[in-house]
This record gives sequence, structure tokens and C-alpha cells, in this order.
Amino acid sequence: MAVPDALDRLAAELGPAFTADPAALAAYRTDKSGWTTPETPLAAVRARSTADVQAAMRIASEHGIPVVPRGAGTGLAGGAVGTAGALVVDVAAMDRVLEIHAADEIAIVQPGVVTDDLAAVLAPHGLWWPPDPASRAISTVGGNIATNAGGLLCAKYGVTRESVLALAVVLADGTLVRTGHRTVKGVTGYDLTALLIGSEGTLGIVVEATLKLRRRSTDPVVTVAAGFPTVVEAAAASAAITAAGIRCAALELLDAASCAAIDAYLADVPGMPSLAGRGAFLLVQTDGAAAADEGLAVVRLIEAAGGVPELAADEAEGERLLQVRRSAHPAFERLGQVLIEDVAVPRTRLPAMFAAIERISAEFGLPIPTVAHAGDGNLHPNLVIPPGLPHEPGTYPDVVWDAAEALFRTAIELGGTLTGEHGVGVLKRRWLEDELGPEVTALSRRIKAAFDPQGILNPGKVFLDA
Ligand SMILES: Cc1cc2nc3c(=O)[nH]c(=O)nc-3n(C[C@H](O)[C@H](O)[C@H](O)COP(=O)(O)OP(=O)(O)OC[C@H]3O[C@@H](n4cnc5c(N)ncnc54)[C@H](O)[C@@H]3O)c2cc1C
Repeated sequence: MAVPDALDRLAAELGPAFTADPAALAAYRTDKSGWTTPETPLAAVRARSTADVQAAMRIASEHGIPVVPRGAGTGLAGGAVGTAGALVVDVAAMDRVLEIHAADEIAIVQPGVVTDDLAAVLAPHGLWWPPDPASRAISTVGGNIATNAGGLLCAKYGVTRESVLALAVVLADGTLVRTGHRTVKGVTGYDLTALLIGSEGTLGIVVEATLKLRRRSTDPVVTVAAGFPTVVEAAAASAAITAAGIRCAALELLDAASCAAIDAYLADVPGMPSLAGRGAFLLVQTDGAAAADEGLAVVRLIEAAGGVPELAADEAEGERLLQVRRSAHPAFERLGQVLIEDVAVPRTRLPAMFAAIERISAEFGLPIPTVAHAGDGNLHPNLVIPPGLPHEPGTYPDVVWDAAEALFRTAIELGGTLTGEHGVGVLKRRWLEDELGPEVTALSRRIKAAFDPQGILNPGKVFLDA
């Protein structure tokens, strides 16, 4: 059947949720990675309901049309980019919280709920959902699930996978399936929920999620901020804190270039602490009943590692310090076009990875300001494209990719991974097999084919030639 027939059917069945207007489609050509397709996608469905998603998938599969699932488009791997000939299924408008069951500590939500909006709805119940990406004010819960998002609180509270109990998912042919359990435990059958989390829209479209919540602690949070002469010393302090068995709620590290960029960005914001002149900055939060004792232990370990710790006066000051850390992305955007990388290494190898980043920065002549969720060994080296270096808009010059490849190889040699939380998307697909090896890559492809035999769900994402 011809593509025009499919567009007619989509328009007839989906009414105003369907658009083929080039102006409306232009926004789908990119995401927050900055990678941009030269073409415009075929069309888009702005789904209002599960039925809309099912209709879109049924028509797409009957016509063999590729489909790109999309939440808020804040992804940093190009996964939600609407490529040529694709139908974008945008679920951002499916944004209702369907149920909160405080006694069972669960919430059932649609995929388009913005992460911060969910937090606001849960707070009066004394509950919270732990996934805490720095993009929480703009990303969706469905996108967090599809990327298995991390953030500042993962070291203690885990990544998104640890906080999802069940999913409703529309498969490639439009069938609706439900995976997982409403119960805390449940081991019937394969754990398809875990498999779907982090599958980056290649196995199905999440239309509903049952989330595992936590109760808010009433104990005060303790925040310690510390300056260090060098980033390698700060990384050693961070490794010593985790090696001492202290499970910090947040353990964040910023190198000198990041401190300078954030300082410049926040210069005009009243009341924000200054990071000027720091060789590196470590931000630690402890929470729960042991927060005060753990905070003091952290202070001692920082001093022993050559840092200068300061305890935040109160929770408001602690929150301001977290805001400083969350300002890293917009601060780097001010430096020019940036490739935001996302490697992770075992926590004891953080000093070695930071030392390697300094070497790679010098070797390729690129500034690489780096921040890290140090508590879980996840680093974000930001490769800044020097002004005047020729490249097509929406792409990165070869030297940037060469430096990124050196970072990936080092991380893997240190026992780490290509991506700690942002996903593979388009930008890392050519290195997938280097990390997984041929057997696991082939097995992953067979799993993809079992879910999506025609290969219409997000083709060209995760796998090089899907
Ligand atoms: C300033 C900034 C800070 C960030 N900080 C963090 C951070 O700390 N930690 C972190 O992990 N990420 C971070 N990110 C990246 C990004 O916000 C996350 O990956 C987020 O989870 C993406 O959500 P989204 O709704 O924007 O998804 P999108 O960008 O729309 O999509 C991301 C991927 O998920 C798929 N997808 C989206 N919705 C669905 C669905 N309902 N069903 C199936 N597939 C779907 C898409 O196809 C795509 O592959 C940051 C981004 C920015 C811009």
C-alpha cells in the first residue's frame, strides 16, 4: 500500500492529532543533543490516548512506515529525532496522573507527565519518585523510562529501572500489552518490564507506567561542599567516600573548567554560591536517620584527601548548591556547540578517567569541561567545538568524534561503559558492538526482531543498520 494512502488513513482516524504540516514537523528534526536530520519526517501523531497510539501503530505497520516515539525531546543521544520517511508518535500530551495509592506507595501515570510535575503532585502525599535527571523540569516520565534515566540521586536510590513496577506498552502492530506487577515482588515469567526500560523506543511505545514511590524522610538533609586543588584529588576523595561504605544521596564532582563556566552563567543570579577559582568542586548530600553522622564522616574524608569542606547552613543553602550543579548544561551551551558525553567507570577508577580526560583534551586540542555523578562513576565530559572549526550545522566535526572515541575506549578499558544514562540513540550506535561484543549484539537483534519483526520501531537508533 502506498504512503499517501497511509497518510489519508491517519488523517481520517486521528483527526486533529495528525499533522503533516512541514512547519509543525520541523521541531521533530532534532533533540537536545543538537544532532539534526537534514530532512523533515513524513508526519506526526500527537497522541491524546492509548487508542491514538494503537491506531497510529496499526496503520504504520500495515504500510511498513517507520515510527519514532517521542516524549519531550530532551534526549541527548538523538533517539527521538524524526528521521526521513518516519511517522513521529509524540506522547507528550498524554500527561495525566491516573492514580496515586499512598498506602501501596505506587502511582499510575501516562507517559507524557513531566518529571517535576509528578513530584509536585506526589509531595502533598509525603511521597516522591526517585529518578532525578537534571532535566526533570522538562523531561517526561515516559522518556525517563525509555532511556532508563539517571541523575543526581542514583548512587543511593538507583536509576529509573529500580522505580518502575509495571508498564502498558503498544507494540509495533498496535497490540496493547501489560508487563510487570502492581505488587512490590513478582517473578512470574520473564522480566519484560526491565527489558523495555532503556530500550529507547525500539521495542514498543510506553503508554502507562506503574511507578514505585518512596516516602519523604523528615530527617534534615546534610550538604557538604568542598573545593580541591585538582580534579584528580577530588575524584580520589569521592572514591574514598564510596569505599568507606557511605551511601550519599548525591555525590557530584565538577572540574575547574565546569566551575568557571557555571560561575559565569550564574554571575547575575542573586544568592547563588560562587565556584570561582576552584581546581575542582565536590558536592555531597547525606539523608535519612544517619545523615548527620555520615555528613561528618564525609567532612573528615574530604580533609584527609586535601579538600576544604564547608557544611551548608541549612536545607535551603543545600538546595541552592544542587541548583548550581543543575546549571551545568545551560552553562556549557553558552560556550558554543557542545557534544555532551556520558561514560561510566567503576567508582575506584574515577581518578584514572579524569586524568585520561585531561590527556585527551590536550591531545585533540579541545576544551572538555567535565561534571560527574561521582557517586555512581558516571562522567559527563562536554566536548566544546572551538569557534571557527568548519562543520555542517547539526553535526559534529571529525576531531570531536575522534576525541569522543578516545574517551569511549578509555572508559571500556577501565571496566566501564559507553553510556551511563543518556542512551545509545543515533550518536553511539557505531560503538555498540565494541562494548557488547558480537554474540550479545546478535542476541539483542533477535530480541528486537521478536518485538518488532518488520523493524519499524525507531530504526537506525541503537543499532547501526536496524
Ligand atoms: C539540561 C539537560 C539535563 C539532562 N540531565 C540528565 C540527567 O541528569 N540524567 C539523564 O539520564 N538524562 C539527562 N538528560 C537527558 C534527557 O532529559 C533524558 O534522557 C530524558 O529521560 C528524556 O526524556 P524525554 O521525555 O525528553 O524523551 P525524548 O527525548 O523525547 O526521547 C528519548 C528516547 O526515548 C524514546 N521515548 C520517549 N518517550 C517514549 C515512550 N513513551 N515510549 C517509548 N519510547 C519513548 C524516544 O524514542 C527516544 O529514543 C538531560 C537533558 C538535558 C537537556
